[in-house]
Amino acid sequence: MPLPADYHMHTPLCRHAVGEPVEYAAQAVKVGLTEIGFTDHSPMRRDDFDNWRMRADQLDEYVEKVRRAEREFPQLTIKLALEVDYLPGHEEWIRELAARHPWDYFIGSVHYVSDRKPPLTPSLSPSEGERVQATGEWDVDNPAKISEWKHRDAYEVWSVYFERLTMAAESGLFEIIGHADLPKKFRFYPDRDCTPLFDRFLCAAASKGVAVELNTAGLRKDCKEIYPSRQILQMAFERGVPITFGSDAHAPGEVGMDFASAIELARSVGYRECCGFTQRKRTGAAF
Ligand SMILES: [Zn+2]
Ligand SMILES: [Zn+2]
Repeated sequence: MPLPADYHMHTPLCRHAVGEPVEYAAQAVKVGLTEIGFTDHSPMRRDDFDNWRMRADQLDEYVEKVRRAEREFPQLTIKLALEVDYLPGHEEWIRELAARHPWDYFIGSVHYVSDRKPPLTPSLSPSEGERVQATGEWDVDNPAKISEWKHRDAYEVWSVYFERLTMAAESGLFEIIGHADLPKKFRFYPDRDCTPLFDRFLCAAASKGVAVELNTAGLRKDCKEIYPSRQILQMAFERGVPITFGSDAHAPGEVGMDFASAIELARSVGYRECCGFTQRKRTGAAF
């Protein structure tokens, strides 16, 4: 049985990954993969949105790097894709990105649970102003902002996160939803049952035919667990949600990492098939 495709990997253009796509491709061949997909962090309309993604004017360069890997490794199927941040209100921008290149798929990921607020207005008192800033944008997986968790109720964060993930699944903008329970990264777990949140998200994914990825990067984080959890994956299987696999590699040595564990997890909840995407059309594959 061939290994499933590794559908989640980055490039140095996002400013926090190392190694060129050709090096990721070489590693893929070395570990026995036959198919991979590049999904670097998509640009935002404003390049100053944050500091962990490519600039909008680097999109062509990104595509060229992936094409070069394709030319140098003809024995490997290489997909051209992006990991796109879902934030409410960004839909138009995501459609613009989609029209720029013949992408094979988009992974829709939620990292932000709050939006950048408009600049402070003079009418706000300083204390109100501080509060507006404190509730400004927050990417829950950012190690530089881990202290923010201490000011938040974990259940509230998980609720907003899954509400956005559900919107992403319903949006029709993405083929795959990335690392579906990312808020567990630093082990800030809610003290209430989140099953209804997972259910709403997975029902949306099932009805839209959107896949959920098994992302092995969680094993390399504090949570020491694949994204999503066994509970979520079991629920996904019961609802007929398709799956993909991804290492979320930020270095060539991480390509295909821990796929044996991911395969074991997927099989243990009942999956025997995963899916692939070509030009945004789904295909099936056994694993
Ligand atoms: Zn991500
Ligand atoms: Zn990623």
